[in-house]
Amino acid sequence: MKLLMWLVLVVLVVFAVRKKGQKISFPTAQGGAEPAPPRPDPVQIEAEAMVCCDICQMYIPSSEAIRKGQKTYCCIAHAEQAVQAD
Ligand SMILES: [Zn+2]
Repeated sequence: MKLLMWLVLVVLVVFAVRKKGQKISFPTAQGGAEPAPPRPDPVQIEAEAMVCCDICQMYIPSSEAIRKGQKTYCCIAHAEQAVQAD
């Protein structure tokens, strides 16, 4: 009889743990519906070519660079500075 009581207790504990486990796993399963914050793809950032400013030697993405002839500059000010120097 004592053994049966222990068996019932063990079954109850197992059920309690299972219920708790379900409660914990449920929000994570629903969390998939929540949109994840957009993150810039590091591969895409690396893919963009970097060019060096002819004045300050700073590296900038090719798309943001200002080109004058064969040279590239980080900003209009540096591009104009280069023109004045010539
Ligand atoms: Zn510059």
